[in-house]
Amino acid sequence: MPANPILRLKSVRKTFGHFTALHGIDLAIEEGEFFTIVGPSGSGKSTIIRLLVGMDELTSGEIWLRDKRIDQIPANLRPTCMVFQSLALFPHMSVGQNIEFPLKLRKIDPAKRKARAIELLQLLHLPASYYDKRVTECSGGERQRVALARALAFDPEILFFDEPLSALDYRLRKSLEKELKDLHARTGKTFVYITHSLEEALVMSDRIAIMKSGRFEQISDADEIYSKPVSRFVAEFMGEVNLFQVTASDGRIEGAGLIAAPGDATSTMAERITAARDATLMIRPEYVQFLADGQVADFEISGTLNGIYALGSRIHYEVKTGSGQILTVEKLREDRYDGSQGDTVRLGWSAASAHVIEDTPFE
Ligand code: ATP
Repeated sequence: MPANPILRLKSVRKTFGHFTALHGIDLAIEEGEFFTIVGPSGSGKSTIIRLLVGMDELTSGEIWLRDKRIDQIPANLRPTCMVFQSLALFPHMSVGQNIEFPLKLRKIDPAKRKARAIELLQLLHLPASYYDKRVTECSGGERQRVALARALAFDPEILFFDEPLSALDYRLRKSLEKELKDLHARTGKTFVYITHSLEEALVMSDRIAIMKSGRFEQISDADEIYSKPVSRFVAEFMGEVNLFQVTASDGRIEGAGLIAAPGDATSTMAERITAARDATLMIRPEYVQFLADGQVADFEISGTLNGIYALGSRIHYEVKTGSGQILTVEKLREDRYDGSQGDTVRLGWSAASAHVIEDTPFE
């Protein structure tokens, strides 16, 4: 939790008729942070942003900008700015006029306006000659940058982004992800970003909040969310994962077909599993090894090689266990496992690479 947050949500609820879109959420965002809210469609991401920028009213709760309560302040008086997926640029104006628009509203004189617009074009890696270009003559990626330049011209304290890259093709999206991250570093502004693309969140963010049905499931840095998810939902949302329902007694961990070597490596895990109401053992596919004859591991399980899929630089394997569970293993092409479909294989992994998810019922 940040010590001096720039933005704080306190017990924010939002209902639409009988439907509760946000269930009293709390959130604190640090000054200068790149904070991303990610979650499936309908989880409440846009609702949060709409409340933050003042496009919608809270049902209850408070929003604070540093030491000032802002939830009662009209949108146009809040020191925040929004960059949308649909760019909302003025098509009849030039690039320069679009960028200068916020400065014109503030009655800044034309020479200063132009100088700032050109500065912003350069910040966004667009040539100064674009100042006179028509917006309609710009490509999708260029328009996205013009929209960003215009948002920065407002000089907001916080920039909000509602899926700004989702309409762009893959290559453009990738390059703009990097540019946004770079822009964040260069401007030092606070960025609050929403997306349902996990990849985008992972590439850019300092911290990520995972949303589910109007609540935050986990708020943490990308690494922790990936390797230590607090729930099965987060684990599965963060990519391919192998999950085992496990129990433990007398220091021995048990799960369908799973062999856990008793000893120091697994004993702390066994204690946590014993203490939990429901426990799930999680292992990401890239940490699973194909064990050679005589090779041992903290955790082992046998199965039949069910499928081999080449995904460019990586190879994806599916292994069916005795209980019918399909496990996934991922190897880099150069570390590929030399086997064929139908082979009986032994898989293994270390206790250090596994994680116990506590108190999430195994469905
Ligand atoms: P997406 O990724 O699809 O944009 P989201 O996570 O941004 O989804 P929201 O748009 O915040 O989700 O919507 C959250 C929930 O609130 C949804 O179930 C949605 O149907 C509902 N909702 C949003 N706005 C309204 C409204 N004006 N009236 C009624 N229900 C609404």
